[in-house]
Amino acid sequence: MNDLPAAAGADAGALLAALPDPVAWLGPDGAWTVNAAAAARLDRLDAGQDWQALFSDDSVARLRRAVQDAQAGQTTRVTVKIVDTAAPGLVTVAPSGGGVLLHLHVARDPLEVALELMDGLHLGLTVQSPDSRILMVNGAAPDILGLSAGQLTGRDSLDPRWQAIHPDGRPFPGDTHPSRVALRTGQVVRDVPMGIFHPPSETWRWLQVTAIPRLVAGTNEAKQVTTVFADVTDRYVLQREMQRSEQRFRSLVEATSQIVWDAHPDGHFPPPQPGWEAFTGQTPGEYGGAGWLDAVHPDDRPSTLRDWRRAVQTEQHYLTEHRLRRADGTYVPMQARAVAVRDENGAIREWVGIHTDMSAVRDAQQALIDLNADLERRVQERTLALADLTRFSTLLLTAAGEGIFGLNPDGVTTFANPAAARMLGYSVERMIGASQHDLVHHHHADGRPYELRECPIHQTLQDGQTRRVEQDVMWHAQGHAVPVAYVVTPTHDENGQPSGAVVMVQDITERERAQEQLRELIENLERSNQDLEQFAYVASHDLQEPLRTIGSYTELLARRYQGQLDPRADQYLHYMQDAVMRMRSLIQDLLGFARVGRHDTLLERVPLDDLLRAAAQNVRGTLDDGGGTLDWRTPHAVLGQPSLLIQLITNLISNGLKFRAQDRPAHVQVTSHLEGEFVRVTVQDNGIGIAPEYHARVFDIFQRLHRREQYAGNGMGLAICRKIVEFHGGRIWLESAPAQGSTFHLTLPVAPSQ
Ligand code: ADP
Repeated sequence: MNDLPAAAGADAGALLAALPDPVAWLGPDGAWTVNAAAAARLDRLDAGQDWQALFSDDSVARLRRAVQDAQAGQTTRVTVKIVDTAAPGLVTVAPSGGGVLLHLHVARDPLEVALELMDGLHLGLTVQSPDSRILMVNGAAPDILGLSAGQLTGRDSLDPRWQAIHPDGRPFPGDTHPSRVALRTGQVVRDVPMGIFHPPSETWRWLQVTAIPRLVAGTNEAKQVTTVFADVTDRYVLQREMQRSEQRFRSLVEATSQIVWDAHPDGHFPPPQPGWEAFTGQTPGEYGGAGWLDAVHPDDRPSTLRDWRRAVQTEQHYLTEHRLRRADGTYVPMQARAVAVRDENGAIREWVGIHTDMSAVRDAQQALIDLNADLERRVQERTLALADLTRFSTLLLTAAGEGIFGLNPDGVTTFANPAAARMLGYSVERMIGASQHDLVHHHHADGRPYELRECPIHQTLQDGQTRRVEQDVMWHAQGHAVPVAYVVTPTHDENGQPSGAVVMVQDITERERAQEQLRELIENLERSNQDLEQFAYVASHDLQEPLRTIGSYTELLARRYQGQLDPRADQYLHYMQDAVMRMRSLIQDLLGFARVGRHDTLLERVPLDDLLRAAAQNVRGTLDDGGGTLDWRTPHAVLGQPSLLIQLITNLISNGLKFRAQDRPAHVQVTSHLEGEFVRVTVQDNGIGIAPEYHARVFDIFQRLHRREQYAGNGMGLAICRKIVEFHGGRIWLESAPAQGSTFHLTLPVAPSQ
């Protein structure tokens, strides 16, 4: 191989030899010379010196024409195809030194260039087929992904070894990988963050992934996808770290609510003061110089200024407290501190200060003070209440009419009130400390010894149950029994443990005596009542016979001698007959009265309507004679003896018709209402009425308010009514006023429903 310098001149020869591009020179003699780069290529092709071997045939033909042009002094450029790489090249063909110089510039494969560039930038790249298998990777990819090119090729986009995750830690499923998405959608997917586990280093790496699909021309269908990814771990970690520390800082600032500031040595407050601005909302124009004082509560300004001036003058620490106006206008209690920062000569360079929010401390302090005050108040209240209670209990114990004993669990008296002592004839001192049972409760009323185990007080001490004893005796110091009733209540100590019992004893001597008297009284009454009834019965019964005789003879006398004696005798006869008649009715009524409830009477269900119908029948004569009207609305049924009840209702109705007012026709109305277990029957008339002072008396036997000449009757009707009602367990009373009519009310037991 010839050296170029020989032909191209010393300088040019050296230059051409060093040129990386292949160069060939055709001398005037027709001999070819090539430089080192060209020789290296020809060597590779094993083509000796024949430069034409570098190019395809059609390229050679074009080059020959260009050489001819160059020999004619013209420079041309020819695009050629280089055989070993199939890459295009550009050959510059130029006249040079009497010969022709051919300079080959090889254009490089853009993909190769791109890959090289990406390797240099440490960007990973993969090319994947439509089924997302990796066809090719660049040099940086294995390093970033931690798997070799061999391991990667043929794999799916996401290897399980990477355990891909999102930034928030959620798993990153394979089908959401950007390259798969790009293949599926035909769209570019940019900058997707993805964390992967890097197997060789066993660390987590953060990638930023962009996938660019290559589409089948004119469609949206991807035939390949190129995925580019950068390892952003450092940036990511840093970012996270920054975020975290920023958060930490922010929460620290928020938590402490502190304002940090600085001031000139002379005490001036220069902008910028970001902390101050943020807290107070003051602008630099407002707080600069001494304007900051405006943010301090007016009342606190003098002390603040005094403290600050003193600090600046004496160069000592600044410490003060004041209320500082927050941006929202509220005043916050603050503690302000500042220290002087000195230069190497000891002169003050600046003041650095800090404001600390004291509200939390204040609140806590106040809460503590409040709590203490509250506690104190409650203790006082409790003490007062206790004192009250003690005083009250003592009073109660002393004043109580009942005897009160306190017993310990063994039945020993621990206290006794004066009433107890009085009742049993001992002194309080004698009772306290003694066994209560042995001292006052040792025998029953009949003289039997009282065994401890049958003593109710002792039983309460054992089982803690309250007991009430209505009748018992306790023994007086002088040896006689005191009839008593008592209640035994168990007591407990503050831990809820049984601590004995309290016995409240009542002396029932008086009560017993009164009860005894009452019993006697009732017995006497019952006896005399019975005697009376017996007498009424016997009397009326026995009177009937002589009356019948008198009646018969009077009638005989009248029939035989009427009109034969003088007129006066006739009148006497008439009086006698009248008296006999009255006497008869009187005796009958008396007998009826005495008979009520005398015999065992069977009670039955009686519908009031039936009663009313029967009673109406009884007063029919009066009604037919135009003596008045009667109506009733009585839908209930009562439990009773029908004939007595008919008599009762008949009496009331006939009274209503009899005692009519002169100026109006009599009208009687009977109604009934249900009142619990009873039916209330009301008989109302529009008659002459009864003055209130007679309301009770009219029910007495023989009680009448009118002379017989005015209104007939013997004063037995209402007495019988009351007896019948009371026999049925009911009540009878009346409402009335003179000339207002009368209303009689009575109650009878309701009949059980059928
Ligand atoms: P009497 O046989 O006189 O009717 P009663 O015992 O039935 O006896 O009544 C007693 C008295 O009560 C009557 O004399 C009358 O003065 C008064 N009295 C009873 N019922 C009525 C009534 N409905 N209106 C006004 N007075 C009455």
